[in-house]
Amino acid sequence: MAVAMLPLLEATPPLAEAPHRDLCTDCGVSRSSHASQCGKVCQFIHPRYDALEQQVHGRTRKAEGDEVFFGPFRAMYRAALRAPLAGAQWTGITTRIAERLLATGAVDAVLAVASDPADRWRPRPVIVTEAADMAQCRGMKMGYAPLLALLDTCAERGYRRLAVIGVACQVHALRALEAQLGLERLYVIGTPCSDNTTTERFHQFLALLTPNPEAVTYLEFLADYRVELRFADGSHRHIPFLQLPIRQLPKDFFPTTCRSCFDYTNSLSDLTVGYMGGEGDQWLLVRTARGEELVALLGDEIRLSAPGARGDRVGAVRGFVQLLERSVGGLPVRGAPEWARPLIGWAQRRFGPKGLEFARTRVEMKAAEGILTLRHERPHRMKRMIPNFAWRLVAPYGLAPRTGETVEEIA
Ligand SMILES: Cc1cc2nc3c(=O)[nH]c(=O)nc-3n(C[C@H](O)[C@H](O)[C@H](O)COP(=O)(O)OP(=O)(O)OC[C@H]3O[C@@H](n4cnc5c(N)ncnc54)[C@H](O)[C@@H]3O)c2cc1C
Ligand code: SF4
Ligand code: SF4
Repeated sequence: MAVAMLPLLEATPPLAEAPHRDLCTDCGVSRSSHASQCGKVCQFIHPRYDALEQQVHGRTRKAEGDEVFFGPFRAMYRAALRAPLAGAQWTGITTRIAERLLATGAVDAVLAVASDPADRWRPRPVIVTEAADMAQCRGMKMGYAPLLALLDTCAERGYRRLAVIGVACQVHALRALEAQLGLERLYVIGTPCSDNTTTERFHQFLALLTPNPEAVTYLEFLADYRVELRFADGSHRHIPFLQLPIRQLPKDFFPTTCRSCFDYTNSLSDLTVGYMGGEGDQWLLVRTARGEELVALLGDEIRLSAPGARGDRVGAVRGFVQLLERSVGGLPVRGAPEWARPLIGWAQRRFGPKGLEFARTRVEMKAAEGILTLRHERPHRMKRMIPNFAWRLVAPYGLAPRTGETVEEIA
């Protein structure tokens, strides 16, 4: 879908081509002056979860309680903007915080992701310096955004107080590079991320969901086990997860990178803004003193409350792990007959895990998926790529390291 060329995009320089790297989500490092450091900063090549948690939080995650699932945090909230922003993925907390950072002069620039002028779903990294322009970054795009390539332009322009909004694979590399960037101040707003794929593949998925894929303006995997679609004419539709056309997707629909990514909740950010633990609202994990500053910028605009937790995840995760083991490298497709799916979907919504228990469910499922994906597709990478915390998450489901798969924290 074509949209008018925005001044924001014109102000952002074209990026260098990305050289080929195996297991790469094109975070932008390989297109930048830091390209030679992919081998040291990449979450797929040289992940350093413990060392970077130590760097950012002054400690690693606790071995008990919710930090086991979500990484280090100081406070956790169910949250919503009192006046949701048009075009936002949820209520727009993420882009509103960035607007406030720019409006109050706390940063010179924000690195974020807007839509490509030719395709609303294609991510396009941008440098934002005017608060009002953050509105162009609202909403989720599907695909890889070489966000960190813009660090060079920020340096050339003398921007030394930055905010970066990114997904975990971008934030991992950013934190690993942080000390060499010579920044006076860096705020990192992270979103959880899962099941990303290329923009082309995402268009194929949309075409399977509806005869009018070009009219879709919004898609989200809700915490009530349904996908929400919104259309240009204002209508919307909810599709239960179980009725998604997963069987029709090619086996490699989700790339190996996104199926073997272990930091679902973006634990190296100052503030994580997601929805999984929010029971229909947003979900905030305030991780650092800077994260506290970010939330304070919203004052009364934001409604905060304690997140709830209901249900029991164990059966759901165990069933998922069994499905994954059976699907040997493909997509986990449920064996339930067509007629039973609406009923199972209803039961999931009624009795399935909710709030923080839903978030824990998803984190455990993703850890299991990562381990089984690597065991099947890149066994030689397991030792290096799988953090200890992921093995701890899957231990209750009978998944344990085999010889040669054990984790070592690589200095
Ligand atoms: C591919 C993907 C998968 C996600 N999966 C989950 C999930 O499983 N669970 C969960 O709780 N949350 C997930 N999120 C985050 C969630 O969709 C919301 O973006 C988040 O809750 C913030 O909502 P908001 O209304 O505050 O954002 P908005 O104010 O609308 O801002 C959205 C922000 O997302 C950024 N963004 C958009 N697309 C991309 C992209 N492709 N790459 C990097 N940054 C991007 C933009 O820079 C913008 O700042 C995912 C996000 C993405 C991009
Ligand atoms: S650091 Fe970024 S660009 Fe480099 S290999 Fe990793 S994901 Fe790709
Ligand atoms: S799922 Fe993980 S690897 Fe894939 S884009 Fe999201 S954060 Fe990056």
